[in-house]
Amino acid sequence: MLIVMKTDASEAEIAEVVRIVNEMNLQAEALPGAQRTAIAVTGNTSPVDASRFENLAGVAETIRVTRPLKLTTLEMRPTKTVVRVGDATIGGDELAIIAGPCAIESHAQAFAIAETVRRSGARFFRGGAFKPRTSPYAFQGLGEQGLKILAEVRGAYGLKIVTEAIDEQAVDLVEKYGDVIQIGARNMQNFSLLKRAGRASLPVLLKRGMAATLDEWLLAAEYIMAEGNAQIILCERGIRTFAQHTRNTLDLAVIPALRRLSHLPVIVDPSHGTGKNYMVAPLARAAAATGADGLMIEVHDQPERALSDGAQALTLQQYEQTIAEARDIYEVLTATAQVG
Ligand code: PEP
Ligand code: MN
Repeated sequence: MLIVMKTDASEAEIAEVVRIVNEMNLQAEALPGAQRTAIAVTGNTSPVDASRFENLAGVAETIRVTRPLKLTTLEMRPTKTVVRVGDATIGGDELAIIAGPCAIESHAQAFAIAETVRRSGARFFRGGAFKPRTSPYAFQGLGEQGLKILAEVRGAYGLKIVTEAIDEQAVDLVEKYGDVIQIGARNMQNFSLLKRAGRASLPVLLKRGMAATLDEWLLAAEYIMAEGNAQIILCERGIRTFAQHTRNTLDLAVIPALRRLSHLPVIVDPSHGTGKNYMVAPLARAAAATGADGLMIEVHDQPERALSDGAQALTLQQYEQTIAEARDIYEVLTATAQVG
């Protein structure tokens, strides 16, 4: 921590701050500047309580230097995490594709889409059985029935199932029928759900909260890791801004920012990130170029009839083309070792 003194702080006030730091069994080094003195506090193994200093005479402000992150950082684990789901991986050396409808609506719908997803070479199928909807009157998902359809898709096509758990009971069910537990943007800071996911037997796909900073997002991942589950995939899905030309603002700059800080794989969801069909392909290509470990894409056999998020769903044909383009970009970059 850095304690910044006011420009008119006296020698006695500086000495008093140093004395208190030493009393806490920490080291204090006064760094005189042109305008003011800053006091560097070192020797702490956990965050220093800034409130001890903020109200002292002569103190202007305290600045935290160390981040509150631990398990998710490269400092702690210098090698990149590869999430393994059977024989499929996320964070390995191929662009992972997780595709499927927003919600599982029927057996016929799920199978019509899964057929194309399988043919595209994707290894993961997505689809919500429990839908967190803004309106209580909107379609809420088929519940356990939807999970049973997903399990049938896995049996028929060998696709790994990624599906959302909106509460702790749903985690039990996803563990029974699925392969990866999705935690949605609205639940990124549902701490009891994060802890339950941390004790789960399956990997966790953690979406970024609608207004979460990078640190808040990684701290949510820390909750999962602290319970013993290190198989976490981060998913950028756009944040709420003042922009009105998109549903959310897809923050692709978070990919290189995360790479510098964390060992966890990160994928991009351009479907929720834009909310508009015509924006999904360009942002999917951009995500691949930014070095994302994978893409989550919503695709529907009849987008105009979708019970949720039809406006952002790709048609089967658009999906196949988008994936092919994103893969081409990813391969060019890996061939020249530009990714990661
Ligand atoms: C979803 O992927 O189905 C979903 C609801 O996304 P998000 O949590 O990002 O809104
Ligand atoms: Mn959706």
